[in-house]
Amino acid sequence: MSVRAEAEEAVREGRVKLYVFRPSGRRRWIVVGRHGDYLVLPHAGYCSCHDFFFRVMGGGKPTCYHLEAVKIAQETGRYETIEEEDHWHQTLMDEWLQRKPTRGPYTHPRREDPGQGTGGRR
Ligand SMILES: [Zn+2]
Repeated sequence: MSVRAEAEEAVREGRVKLYVFRPSGRRRWIVVGRHGDYLVLPHAGYCSCHDFFFRVMGGGKPTCYHLEAVKIAQETGRYETIEEEDHWHQTLMDEWLQRKPTRGPYTHPRREDPGQGTGGRR
């Protein structure tokens, strides 16, 4: 399926959502994909999906269908608006960007600690 056709399908199926946070008025475009929700920044031409990261940024594709879907939704007005309170913003952003609660991106190897890798709850 072409990017355009996939994007049109997503719009038709109502998978484009606009979150509006209150009281700040922050707006976040989300496309519900097969493997999760993706954050799309149409003005920046950015999407949080793997396809975008590996293929669009790698030069293999001009765009991913989520970005296209948001453009079509904006043009046609076919999207769902969800109002949410500001205190959910960070939680939702973490989810959309698929960040795990992190212990830091890199931990120095430690000697004398054979038990590492099983626990680590903060
Ligand atoms: Zn995408």
